[in-house]
Amino acid sequence: MDCPRCESALDRYALFGKEAVLCEDCGYLGVTVDHESEPREVESWEAAFERFREGGEERREEREGTS
Ligand SMILES: [Zn+2]
Repeated sequence: MDCPRCESALDRYALFGKEAVLCEDCGYLGVTVDHESEPREVESWEAAFERFREGGEERREEREGTS
């Protein structure tokens, strides 16, 4: 898999049973999800870990706030 930004080779990491990809050249970070094969860009490692830790996107109310 190559970086979608700069086409360098991505490094792969296992995160809580899923897979994340990181480009050391441009800082691109993506995670793969179960029903998709394309990596999804996320905000930061911290956000990625938080998302995995909470088991998905169920805590998005903290980010969106209003309803
Ligand atoms: Zn890159």
